[in-house]
Amino acid sequence: MTAPVTAWLAEQQGAMLALLEELVNIDSGSYDKAGVDAVGERLRRFFEEQGVPTSAIRNEAYGDVLKAHASGGGGGNKPIVLMGHRDTVFPKGEAARRPFRIEGGRAYGPGVCDMKGGLVLNAFVLAAYHRFGGAPAPLIGLFTSDEEIGSPACRPVIEETAREARAVFNSEPGRPSGNVVTGRKGGVFMRLEVFGKAAHSGGNYAEGRSAIGELAHKIAALHAVTDLERGTTVNVGLVAGGQSVNTVAPHAEAQIDLRYVTPPDRADAMARIEAVVNGATVPGTSARLEIKGEFYPLVQDEGSRRLFEAYRAAMGELGLAVEGEFAGGCADSGFTASVGCPTICAVGPVGGRAHSPEEYLEVASLAPRAQAMALAIAGLGR
Ligand SMILES: [Zn+2]
Repeated sequence: MTAPVTAWLAEQQGAMLALLEELVNIDSGSYDKAGVDAVGERLRRFFEEQGVPTSAIRNEAYGDVLKAHASGGGGGNKPIVLMGHRDTVFPKGEAARRPFRIEGGRAYGPGVCDMKGGLVLNAFVLAAYHRFGGAPAPLIGLFTSDEEIGSPACRPVIEETAREARAVFNSEPGRPSGNVVTGRKGGVFMRLEVFGKAAHSGGNYAEGRSAIGELAHKIAALHAVTDLERGTTVNVGLVAGGQSVNTVAPHAEAQIDLRYVTPPDRADAMARIEAVVNGATVPGTSARLEIKGEFYPLVQDEGSRRLFEAYRAAMGELGLAVEGEFAGGCADSGFTASVGCPTICAVGPVGGRAHSPEEYLEVASLAPRAQAMALAIAGLGR
């Protein structure tokens, strides 16, 4: 039943590259609403040409959410979601500085693998099933806008879509090895403020309460929460504070990044972090902790394991081997897995060096990875 779908996808490599070139050459940093929406508009036009209905969920601050609704067999079945984010980490002007190019079988340009290649792959799989039918369930393309900054606007949409879905394929870049991702760390991004008391450092030193002095103790204690064997890390990545060189610092702050593997690891680490925040080594100081953003971990449950097995069988049909890897980086797949929806991540085209000028995508992986996804979708009907 999937023969026409995979045969059509095999012929689309050129069309896929053409669309990828257009998407890469549109700047779409997370805070560039116009750019992220322009990428969405280009995808919307692609779906219009393919006859695939779309809908949008408007957002004031960040890019709108674009959904594509491809028809599939198995009416009444819970939909299968193909997910991807349209935003990148790159500033405006980056695409003009180093536009899309192909060299030695690799494509380059901002966001080429993270994850405009995945967007293109999802779009073509949706179009193929819409054209030829045969999917075991309706297919939804979910094109989000703010993943690189923790999905503040899209997270509720992602969770709601996943709650009603049968499975989620998240097309982050395939690992350089060609493997997919079956586990990801969770992350908590926090701001710590420390309050002390200002005093002249020459005249009234003893009356001061140094917030910087207290923060120094707290940083050492926070880093000590790290447990590499357990996969828990705490990084104080930014610090600021003080008023002048001759003032005992009344204020200091730090930004903290916690990464962990399972929800109980998060609870343990947060309890220890809160104890550090609430304790004071410098008498008379106080502190406040605020969670600024958070990604949930992708923990492989039974449903996600079965989804991976369907994907592995699909790759096998193409004569390709694939394993599941664990990744320390966070992604929207953590949100979909955390609401209980079977999830597989990094099923996009193979690539590497994301978030750097050396970011690349293996051109030859575009069509086969699209075929693998199509076959895995078909496999969910068996
Ligand atoms: Zn990404």
